[in-house]
Formats: sequence, C-alpha cells, structure tokens
Amino acid sequence: MMGDQFSQYNVWLVSLSFAIAVLSAFTSLHIASRLLGSKGNDRIVWVSIGSFTLGAGIWSMHFVGMLAYDTHMTVTYDPLLMSISILFSIVSSAIAFYVISIEVNKTSTYLLGSGLIGMGIISMHYIGMAAMQMPAAITYNGKLVALSVCIAFIASYTALKLFLSYAQAASCKWRLWTSACVMGVAITGMHYTGMAAASFDGMSVAILPQMDSSIDQDTLGYLVVGGVLLIMAFTVIVIKYQARIEDSNHRFAIIDRMHRSIIESANDAVITADHDGNILSWNKAAERIFGYHSKEVIEAPLEKILPTGFQNAHQDQGEGNDERTGQTVELEGIHKSGRAFPIELSLSTIKDGANVYFTGIIRNITERIESQKRIEELVYRDDLTHLPNRRMLYDHLSSCIEEAADRAQTIAVMFLDLDRFKQINDVYGHRVGDHFLKKVARRTQSCLTSNDLLARQSGDEFVIVLTETSEDEVRNVAKEIIQAIAEPFFIDNLELYTSTSVGISLYPKDGTDADTLLKHADTAMYEAKKEGGNQYSFFTNELDQVISRKMMIETGLRKAIEREELEVYYQPQVNVATQKVIGFEALVRWNHPVLGLVSPGEFIPLAEEANLIIPMGEWILREACLKFKEWVDDDHTLTHISVNISAIQFKQPNFPDIVKATLKETNLDPSYLELELTESSVQEPERAIPTMHRLKMMGVKLSLDDFGTGYSSLSYLKDFPLDTLKIDRSFTQAIHENQRDKAVVETIVHMALKLGLNVIAEGIETPEQLNKIIESKCHEYQGYLCSPPLPQHQIAAKFIKKELSLNIQKEPLNQEASS
Ligand code: C2E
Ligand code: CA
Ligand code: CA
Repeated sequence: MMGDQFSQYNVWLVSLSFAIAVLSAFTSLHIASRLLGSKGNDRIVWVSIGSFTLGAGIWSMHFVGMLAYDTHMTVTYDPLLMSISILFSIVSSAIAFYVISIEVNKTSTYLLGSGLIGMGIISMHYIGMAAMQMPAAITYNGKLVALSVCIAFIASYTALKLFLSYAQAASCKWRLWTSACVMGVAITGMHYTGMAAASFDGMSVAILPQMDSSIDQDTLGYLVVGGVLLIMAFTVIVIKYQARIEDSNHRFAIIDRMHRSIIESANDAVITADHDGNILSWNKAAERIFGYHSKEVIEAPLEKILPTGFQNAHQDQGEGNDERTGQTVELEGIHKSGRAFPIELSLSTIKDGANVYFTGIIRNITERIESQKRIEELVYRDDLTHLPNRRMLYDHLSSCIEEAADRAQTIAVMFLDLDRFKQINDVYGHRVGDHFLKKVARRTQSCLTSNDLLARQSGDEFVIVLTETSEDEVRNVAKEIIQAIAEPFFIDNLELYTSTSVGISLYPKDGTDADTLLKHADTAMYEAKKEGGNQYSFFTNELDQVISRKMMIETGLRKAIEREELEVYYQPQVNVATQKVIGFEALVRWNHPVLGLVSPGEFIPLAEEANLIIPMGEWILREACLKFKEWVDDDHTLTHISVNISAIQFKQPNFPDIVKATLKETNLDPSYLELELTESSVQEPERAIPTMHRLKMMGVKLSLDDFGTGYSSLSYLKDFPLDTLKIDRSFTQAIHENQRDKAVVETIVHMALKLGLNVIAEGIETPEQLNKIIESKCHEYQGYLCSPPLPQHQIAAKFIKKELSLNIQKEPLNQEASS
C-alpha cells in the first residue's frame, strides 16, 4: 500500500510543496524577528503579515502536496472546509507570533508558540483532507496520524528554538534559513506522514455526496499558484525591506559605536541626565574626574557631583521649550573624596516629546585656574613678601579713588621707608635682609585691618592705603606702626633694630589721582627722614617744592656724567703781591636739562649721599688736570690747579693711587696739583695723616678748605702735612667793617706763616676787602673781584697768556707784574 503510494507522487510537485513550506516559514519568521522589538501598531501589522504568510504557506503546501498525489479519482474540494482550513492555519500562526512577541526568552513561549503552529499545521491538514470530495472514503492509520502530529509539534518547536536563538544572535542569517527549513520539515513532514496515514477506500459514485458548489483540481491548482505567488511576493517585499532596515540599522549601529567611542575616549566628562537631574550616563572621563564608577552615580541626582550653581544653569536651560546647546558656566564640582574643584560645564538640552534631557560636558579647570592664579601672583604680588606689588597697589588705589569720589570719603596713602635698612643688608647679608623685610611686612600688617592694603613698593619701601578714614585715624595707625617696627626683630639669634619714616598724603586734599597721592606721600616721607626718621609727616605744599627739586636732582645725577651734563668751571687765584693769576680752582657745574645750571652746593651733598661722588670726583680731577696741563704748557707762570676733594673720596683707601693714575694719564706734573680737603676729611687724623703723606710723597700739594668753620683743633694743625690754608669766605665777607674778623684773619695768617703754610683768602669781592687782605699779609686771594668761576674757554681767553718763544720771556714778565 505504501509502495503504491510513493509511486503515486509527482516528485516535482512534492519538491515544490517543500519549497513553499520553507519559503513561507522563512518569510514569516523573518517578520517575526521584527516583532520582537516592536510595539503597538507595528506589532499588529507584523503579526498580521507574518501569520498570513505562514498560514498561506501551510495551506499552499498542503494543496500542492494534494496535487502531487494521484488518487486515480476525480477529487473536488468543499470550499467551506477549505476556507476553514486556511483560517485555522492563519489564526493559529497569528496567536503563536503574538505569544512569541510578548516574551522571548521563556520555555513556555517556545512551547506555546510551537504548539500553536503545530496545531495550525495539523488542523489545516486534516480539515483540508476533510474538504476532499471523491468516490472513496478516507480511513486513517492511528499510529501514523500520531507520528504526523509529533512531527508537526517537534519540528515546529525546534524551528522556533533555532529562530529565537537567531533573533538573539541578531545577524546570523543561516540560522534563520535553518529554522525556516526545520519549519518546512514540520509542515511537509506532517503533511506526507498524514497522507501516509490515510487510505482511500473506493466506493460507488452514487453514494458520493454531491455538493452544489465544489472546487475541482484545476481551480485548486490556480488557487495554490495564487497562494504561492502571494507568499513569494511577500517574501521579496520582506527581504527587500529587511535589507534596507538592516542597512540603516547597521549605519545607526556604526554611528552609535563611533559616538560611544568618542564619548569614552573624551578627556572631558560627558554626562546625560533627565529633566529631574538624575544621571543617565557617565563616561570614562567622568569616572576619572569625579572618582565615581558609573554604577555609583547612574540614577543619582546631579547634586551629588555639582552641589551648587548647577540648579541655575539647569533652570536656565529648562525654561523655554527649545533645544539649546553650548551654554558654558564655571562651577564647583565635588570629587568622591569630598574635595571641591573648579569645573567648566557646557550644558545642552535634548527634547523627546514632553521629556527634556540634559547633556553636560564637564571639564576640570583646576590647572587653568591655578595657572591663572600663578600669573596673577607674578603680575600682582611681590615675590619676597607675597604682598601686593606696585601694580596692584596702583590698581587698588585707583579704584578706591573712584569709589571715594562718589561717596566723598577720605583715603590715606602712607609711604613707609625703613631707616638704616641698608646697613642691615650690608652687615648681615641679603638672606638676613630678606628675612628681616618679611618680618617687617608681617608686623606692619598686624597693625592694619582687612580693609587696608599693604603693598611693597620696592626694597625697604612699603605703601599702605586706608579707605574711609580721617586724619586722626591715620595719625594713630602711623604711630602704632612706628612703635611696632621700633621693637627688636630676632633673626638667626640676632637682635636687630630698625625704625621707619612714614609720609602721609590724603585724598582729596593732597591729590586726586594715584600718581599724585603716591608722589606726595613719598615727599612727606623724605621730610620725616630728614627730621631724623622714626616719625611720620603729613604732606604739605611747601614740602613739595623743596623735595620735588631734590628728587629731580637725585634721579638725574646718575646719568649726569654719561650725558655730559657736568662741566668744570675755573676760578682764578691771584698772588696778592704780584696781582698775577697764578692758579685756578676747579668748580663743577651741572647743566640740568630741566632745572638749568645747578650749583654744586646743592648737588654735591646729594651725590655724596648716593655714593655718586666717587666717579664724579674722578671725572672732575681728570678733567681739571687735562685742562691745566694745556694751560701750563702755554703759560709757565701758572703754579697750580686746585681741585676740591670730598671726604668720601679722600677716605677711599686707594685714593692716592687714583690720583697717581690720573696724573700719569694726563701727563701733569704732580707739583702743579693742589687738593682741597675739607675739615671733615681730616677729622680722623690717624687715618687721614698717612694718606696725606702718601700724596705728599707723590709731590702733590694739599690745602685745607673753609678753614675756621669746622671743629679742627689748631693744636694738631701742625701734624698735617699741608701746603695751604684757605680762609673761609665767612671771615672775609665783613673784614673791611669788622675788626674782629680782621683779627681772626691776621691770626690765621700769622699762625700759618709760623707753620710754613701758604694762605689764600676766599670770597674777595671788593677792593676794600682786598686792601684788608693785603694788610693782613695774606699771600693769595680768590673772588669775584678778580673773576667768578668761568668755563674753560673763557679762562683760556682771559687768563692764559700764550708765550711766543722759550722760557726767556718768563722772567721779564714776572718782574713787570711784581713791580
Ligand atoms: P668752596 O670750595 O668753598 O668753593 C668756593 C665757592 O665760593 C664756589 O661756589 C664759588 O663759586 C664761590 N665764590 C667764589 N668767589 C666768590 C665771591 O667773591 N663771592 C661769593 N659770594 N662766592 C664766591 P660754588 O662753585 O657754588 O661751590 C660751592 C661748593 O661746592 C664749594 O665750596 C665746594 O665745597 C663744593 N664744590 C664745588 N665744586 C666741587 C668739586 O669739584 N668737588 C667737590 N668735592 N666739591 C665741589
Ligand atoms: Ca674749594
Ligand atoms: Ca671754600
């Protein structure tokens, strides 16, 4: 019977039936794979198409299978049962797919899904069989029927299992084909086993129930072809559609992966949050910056890492419904350790329907802030004391003035200068000096409130700015500081003392801008210093005139030699007996670019203070020797050039060497040079006398200037190797009126004669004065009567007589003059 049956099959149609089953299974499963992620309407569409395809496939397979089987009878089909059979296969597939789409990963899902599909296949088959109308009755072999049922269930279970593993593995297409094939086996296997279970027992046509309407084999053939075409059309559509979806899915996946890798490799923290500020995502940089692993912060509120300030930025972003990007704010972030650090947050919003999400890019700006601070330190702070420097002082004072102007307040600028700080530096070295300055700064600061500014101006100069103050208050602060600084300082087991001079200027009385106030406080400080230091002094307008000139001289002095602003004038010295000019005193002049001609009486003391007298004195000495060498070469009657030597110059241990070198350099015979020393130079005889001797040994002459005004005791005058005494102008001024002065001059001359010294009287302006000098037996004089000090070219023109020939003329000329 079975053998018979095989011969009754058309192999091509059998194969076609299998192909239909596989194809429809593939299409429907493909569709089912879409179901897994879909929701709502999408799911209904997919379930409908999938179940329709599979139902049509089972149905078409069945009837192709029937066409393949030759029953040797005319078979027609009952359309009602046929419709019911297709309905069964479609509905059961639909339920199966729906079940699968609800919950994927459960055994019950597989069982239920495959059970439903199996039921569909089985019921389709047997209802289809029942729809047959032919002159035979169908009997079934129970065992084979059971086997067909088993095939349907087991094969569809296996197919589903394979399919679901495909769906999870996502991209493995051969699994889908395998599961489609297994499903095909379930359908066709069940069908042909069912057919094998059936035997058609012939009966008379008469008992054949005759239906009004029935479908014959040809119609069935068309229907089946229609069903197959439909399945194929669906298959093509689904495959095309799937390819497109996969392509865009793939692109999305690639882009998503790229975004992820960008976010993960970013140096900045990239954080997303929902509208309530709960963290949704957290990248590697965020872990690094905040110290939290993503597990610790996902779902946590942003306040955990951004305690303050975020709310504002967040609200700003939340208001209005547009998506926004790029608003950048600087906030403080909190590290897991609790440490706060500066961050820069740029916040963007993304809208999804009614939901708003935030994306924050966060950068740790600790380093930037620190380097900003370092730059500020460098620009605005003093290296040593870390006090504000001159620049910050200036900015601060300027802004205080702006504020005070609006509110009519008084500002005080106090200029502090330590007295004798240079000595500490010189004696104990710069290390101690620096330490000392730091302590002074600290002690000064302790006398001030947090509203006051203490700045280091330079060296040992400090400036204090007091705002909203009064004259009395400033006075008190100044007293307090002066007192505090006068207390001893202990450094390296040393007990050091200093004091400070404080100059004060007040806004608006003494100035309305920072420059003026600082300058005037400085001026007032000079005054305090001049009065002996360790005191304060308020600025006054009178001070300004005196001191600003002094400051101009001081600051210009350093450059005066370089700029050739100095010039040596010469004043003739006259032999009283012969009335002949026998020598000159060199007197320096300064052509100040602003102040004009400045007298040495004014700038020499300042040059001495600033230690500039040494280079200046050397320059004058060289200049005078050079010039006198020219003159004496022309005029042999000249006997000397007098050059003033400051006590500071004279006290240099190598002073005689300098003189010697200058004489050598200028080629002047030492006997022509006379050095005018002051009494202060010879105040320490034990040091002065050896130097004087060294000079004398060289052949240089020495004179004592301004004799009679100092404290030098006449008793040790004899110990000095002098050549000349210069009687000070204060004695000659009134010599013609005042007997006492005349007596003093006569006594000096008398004593000088006894000591073998030459005497010269200064400041002789009138013939009367000259007469008294002659009476006093003074040897020489100098003064306006003969000539004021003059520039060298005038001296040369007036007083240097060029000798035409050799020395022969010298004698007669001298005699002429003396006669
Ligand atoms: P000194 O050495 O006593 O110089 C004499 C001063 O008296 C000069 O003033 C001179 O111009 C002035 N004089 C001369 N004859 C008369 C006169 O008949 N009547 C009046 N009223 N004054 C007269 P000068 O040039 O202003 O010098 C002032 C002082 O400056 C000098 O006093 C001297 O101590 C110092 N000095 C000038 N040149 C130099 C220099 O090259 N080196 C140093 N170390 N000191 C100098
Ligand atoms: Ca002099
Ligand atoms: Ca003098």
